[in-house]
Order: sequence, then structure tokens, then C-alpha cells
Amino acid sequence: MIRQGVENMEKMKALVFLGNGTTELQERNIPILKDENDAIVKVTLSTICTSDLHIVHGFVQKAKSNIVLGHEFVGVVTKTGKNVKHIKVGDRVSANCVTNCGKCWYCQHNFVNNCENGGWQLGCTIDGCQAEYVRVPYADSSLYKIPNNLSDKSALFTGDILASGYFGAQLCEIKKGYTVAVIGSGPVGICSAMCAKLLGAEKVIIIDIDSERLKFAEKNNVADNYIDSSKQDVIQSVLNLTKMRGADAVIEAAGNDETFKMSWQIARANAIVAVVAMYEKPLSLPLNQMYGKNLIFKTGGVDSAYCDEILQYLANGKINTDFLITHSVNLNNIEKGYKIFEEKKDGCMKIAVTPYEYQF
Ligand SMILES: [Zn+2]
Ligand SMILES: [Zn+2]
Repeated sequence: MIRQGVENMEKMKALVFLGNGTTELQERNIPILKDENDAIVKVTLSTICTSDLHIVHGFVQKAKSNIVLGHEFVGVVTKTGKNVKHIKVGDRVSANCVTNCGKCWYCQHNFVNNCENGGWQLGCTIDGCQAEYVRVPYADSSLYKIPNNLSDKSALFTGDILASGYFGAQLCEIKKGYTVAVIGSGPVGICSAMCAKLLGAEKVIIIDIDSERLKFAEKNNVADNYIDSSKQDVIQSVLNLTKMRGADAVIEAAGNDETFKMSWQIARANAIVAVVAMYEKPLSLPLNQMYGKNLIFKTGGVDSAYCDEILQYLANGKINTDFLITHSVNLNNIEKGYKIFEEKKDGCMKIAVTPYEYQF
């Protein structure tokens, strides 16, 4: 059960990034409304994302130390500012990992990642959700009501990994008969593969060097073909599956120099290569080798502007991500959770973080 009386205590537990690769579970004040567009959300379920690891390890330049980590969560609204009209106290909500004002030029064009007033703030530049409560700016455009028939667990990934997969699939401009190759069978790769299918791909190929992860993807039937790059010649295998042309579109969701190179090598001429992975160092494109291939490269930063649409797909059973939750810890043990997630222990894909002192 969730511990009682926490509202009256005005204190909560939260995982704080201290800088220099360290975190600490601290006692913090329960957040209060700071702006009329804010909402306070009691976190019912959160999760750990690779981006959190990137922050902890110092790869996110803009990340501030002394902030509460976490940006992927669901919860119940406990307070709203005066300007918040759409979201109400008591609503069960799923959050966008990208805070967006809904009004600026970028938001109006669905480029929410570049919102002039928001962007990736939660758990990066302002306190995030790996806590008992979180303050969400621009609540009306950054929170989404969870349909009644959808559980918290099923809605957990809406605003981040599933939005990233959906974004990756959208970037591919999938047409009838398309074969989409997805590099990486981690959580974002799996979501990309499922979304590519959802958006009409005829065939989805998923590629990974980690045979355990690939097996997990296969067991859950997220693609049509699976290529183990530790054992198979990826380029040849993709050619064999595409009448020797290469993939019509490629989603790069792995994020290292090898997979970056692979992304354009397995694409057919005139294909779209959607790079949704986050890299830890600069990479270059050998344009001399690619000349004449006439590729279109698209890069992200997820524009998670379609969360309502994604929630409908989830509610209608068109897509399901429950199987990605392979582990769970309560907030008390979140640091243990980070270790399990980072080391991919026992086939860990995603960890659900339940509230403090919560026991299943
Ligand atoms: Zn994330
Ligand atoms: Zn905006």
C-alpha cells in the first residue's frame, strides 16, 4: 500500500542526481505550484530510462545537478494552477517526457521537442518523477488523461519510449509494401518495430548484437524477421529479405558508431534513415561512400506530439507494451533498480518503479 499521510508531512522521498556519476535517495519537500499552468502529480508508477543513465554519467550537457531524476511516469493529479483547464484534480494522467507549452510556433507545428518554453526539462533541468510527487509545467499540454479501461502499467511508456518509437516510425513515411529495418531491440527499438507495423509496414526486420534481447523481441513477436549481428552478415541478410534492394526505411535505435554506419548501409537507394538513438560522441557521415545513394536522413529528439493518439491505440488494444516491464522495484530501492537496468541483469528491459514503501 502507499504510505498514508504523506501529504500532511510535506516531505517526500526522491532520487536526486548529485553530479559526478552519483545519485542519492533524499527527503525533499513535496513540490508546490509555481506557475498558473502547473500541476502537481502524485506518481503512481515511474520508470528508469537510458537518458537517466546518460545524465548520471555526464553525457547530457544541460542536465543540472541536485535535481530529482526521471521523466517517464503516470500518476494522479493532486493540484492544478489557475490556468489549467483541461486537466483536473483526481485525473489519472500519463506525462510527456517533453514539457511543451502547446502555444509557441514549434508546438503549433507539432515540433514539441523544440518548444520555446519547454523541451526536456523534467529530471534534467527541473525536478523529475523519480519521487513521490512531481510538478509538471504546462500541465494542459504536457499531461494526458489515461482512458478508463487502460491501467497505469499499460500507459506508463506513452510519453517517452513509445512516443519515441512512434516518432521513429512516423519519420519513415511508411508506404504500402514497405520493409522497415529497426536497429536495436531494446525498449525503443521494440516500440519502433511495433509502431512501424501499426503505421502500415508490410515487413519489419529487427537487428541486434545481443542475442538475448533479440530472443526477447522474437518471443513477443514484435517483428517479422530477426537478425543477430553477432552471428549474421547484416547487410547480406537485409538484402536477402528485400529482393536485394535494402530496407525502404531504417530506424536506428541503438546508438553507437557501428549501428550508425549500419543504418545507411542497409538502406536501399532513396530510403529514409531515421536516427532516433542518442549518441555519446560526435559521428560523421562518409558522404564520399554514399554518393548516389540519395538517402534522406532524419534525426530526433522525440517530437512526442501524439500521446493522445498513442493512448487510444493502447486503449483499443492495437498496441501493448506491458511485456516490456520485466522488473519492478519500489522507490526505496530505486538505486538497486538503476544497477539492474544499467547492467541489463536477468534480461532487464524496463523497470517499473512503484511508490515508496509500496509492496506488491
Ligand atoms: Zn527517456
Ligand atoms: Zn511550445
